Amino acid sequence: MNPFTFTQASDVDAALARLASGARPIAGGTNLLDLMKEGVMRPGELVDINGLGLDTVEEANGGLRLGALARNADTAYHPLVRERYPLLSAAILAGASPQLRNMATNGGNLLQRTRCYYFYDVGTPCNKREPGTGCPAKDGLNRLHAILGTSEHCIATHPSDMCVALRALDSVVHVRSQRGERDIPFADFHRLPGDRPELDNTLEPGELITHITLPDAARFRAHSAYIKVRERLSYAFALVSVAAALDIQSGTIRAARIALGGVAHKPWRVEEAEEALVGKTPGLETFGAAADIVLRGAKGHGQNDFKLTLARNTIEQALTTAARGTEYAKGEQR
Ligand SMILES: Cc1cc2nc3c(=O)[nH]c(=O)nc-3n(C[C@H](O)[C@H](O)[C@H](O)COP(=O)(O)OP(=O)(O)OC[C@H]3O[C@@H](n4cnc5c(N)ncnc54)[C@H](O)[C@@H]3O)c2cc1C
Ligand code: SF4
Repeated sequence: MNPFTFTQASDVDAALARLASGARPIAGGTNLLDLMKEGVMRPGELVDINGLGLDTVEEANGGLRLGALARNADTAYHPLVRERYPLLSAAILAGASPQLRNMATNGGNLLQRTRCYYFYDVGTPCNKREPGTGCPAKDGLNRLHAILGTSEHCIATHPSDMCVALRALDSVVHVRSQRGERDIPFADFHRLPGDRPELDNTLEPGELITHITLPDAARFRAHSAYIKVRERLSYAFALVSVAAALDIQSGTIRAARIALGGVAHKPWRVEEAEEALVGKTPGLETFGAAADIVLRGAKGHGQNDFKLTLARNTIEQALTTAARGTEYAKGEQR
């Protein structure tokens, strides 16, 4: 590991001053420390942001406000989240392991980096790690990789589960720097790789995520589901995941949300597919037609060709499960 200095900020202004001089914030450290050990990230200074008082989960404007430093476990098990946003709770609990969720924070979850094997291996080229060196995943090991929104420069996926639910629920990311405050709709927070695969998101240098807000989602409470398909039941990233939520009144769909993880460089959502469900009766044929719209233009790269079928099936399954009624997560180990 490279030498680095370590400071602890006791308030947001102090943290922003360190960030303005190039320090990297450390929250739970569950991704950053791994990246530093592998030599993928080499910050000269770490500033600990755990003491900023940004760790609350509370009601705000009829919706929800999640502190950036609230732990994933505390968020998933918070009564407000469990009762009013069961989709978010389920997505968080589908990620990582109980120990990791106890440490990982909400802000850090949004900023975790791809799990592409080449990105972590500094002995190989990788456009995301070292722009201009190439993308060996395109013709190599790409079982985990994207089928939508890729570019010739990068086919990596964003690995978060929590972010898939946040995208489905129209969240907003609130950031601060010494230049002021900014609100970023979740749809605009993560990027597609394009010709700048080294940029995962639209956060600018010196910016700190302070909190995330979610609008009221009462109409989706009774019919939501997060389905994650992975190699094993715990401690594995999604091959494909789907967050689905339906507003069903008198047997008819009034509104729908469908977001996918494990298929693109950002949580994937196609509003046209959701609109196609409005006014319809829940059913496999209707759900399959919506899945086809979501997956328009999807393309495999060899080892991940199976995701084309898997994604369609998972969308159908998530919508079918949501239509049956929300299954509240119970008894998960902390
Ligand atoms: C073995 C393993 C399995 C995992 N499985 C899953 C899984 O299945 N699903 C899933 O979703 N995740 C999974 N994860 C990832 C885990 O959820 C993330 O590592 C975690 O959410 C990151 O949060 P953190 O607080 O530890 O971030 P850190 O590691 O502290 O930081 C991550 C990045 O965010 C930056 N940062 C942190 N907070 C802020 C802030 N407030 N403002 C600006 N920048 C900030 C840091 O500088 C750093 O670049 C897994 C991790 C491991 C190690
Ligand atoms: S997919 Fe992206 S992260 Fe993986 S090797 Fe290619 S450029 Fe690097």
